[in-house]
Amino acid sequence: MSEKCVKCGEAVALHLTACPVCSTSAGFPNVRVAQSAKEADALTVRYDSAMVSAEALGVTAEVEAFEKAVATDSVAVMNRALGSLSSWINGESPLFYSFWHQVKYLGREPNESEWDQQRGAAEAAISPFYFEKINFAALTLDGHGMTYYGPYSVTLKSLMIEDRASVFDQNPFNFLKTHHIVGGKAPPSGYRAPWKLRGRLAVAKLQPEISPGKAFGDILMGPRRAEADCEFVEVHVFDAIHRLGIERIVGPMPTERVDRATWNQIVRKAKKLGVKVEVSP
Ligand SMILES: [Zn+2]
Repeated sequence: MSEKCVKCGEAVALHLTACPVCSTSAGFPNVRVAQSAKEADALTVRYDSAMVSAEALGVTAEVEAFEKAVATDSVAVMNRALGSLSSWINGESPLFYSFWHQVKYLGREPNESEWDQQRGAAEAAISPFYFEKINFAALTLDGHGMTYYGPYSVTLKSLMIEDRASVFDQNPFNFLKTHHIVGGKAPPSGYRAPWKLRGRLAVAKLQPEISPGKAFGDILMGPRRAEADCEFVEVHVFDAIHRLGIERIVGPMPTERVDRATWNQIVRKAKKLGVKVEVSP
């Protein structure tokens, strides 16, 4: 897949960030892929089918309200352990880098979990050639993310990510399992969207869950957030995230004294950065 360079008209493959001939910026690969005709058309088919089902069930108004809520109020939330949050907020570098950047350049050791062992293959299948630059977050309406990855939910400022973020139907690892994708087979289209169309993607995925009286926040992301297989729409953010891109931090007061000192440092620095901090179990 490729598109034409806006400057010189030569083909620019979707995974590139700049034209290979004249170096003019081409945008963010994950967003370009999500905006490609193949992906957009396939998402429209899924969305239209969801709206037909909604009409048959008599819940069109609820589904439209859900889409609007997600399109305007949903946020990207990354979860961190206390130490990792501390390095981001107080460390020498203000940037949070992707897992693969950390492994390659910052000495991070992948662990022996199934996830760390297999994530490269899953991410490469969904985001070929550019997966190493992707940071992951969960799309939520309540600011509480996947505590499975760490108890501190970090909401990102939409302004800092909206041009470089896309949304994806599921965690890539679970997506490949759901769709029985084996090595060498391309994943199906229509399961991703640029940030501004996240409401459409959420409808295509979650329409069967929408019924009168059910809270939109609980439909978008279920309650089992401490479990690896909790369902959520995943946000893919291209490139590192600066600590000035943090809007809010929600998490528990640590019980150990040494951790409380770290937490207090985080709170002090967060206030200086203008980040809202909330203690919540
Ligand atoms: Zn060019």
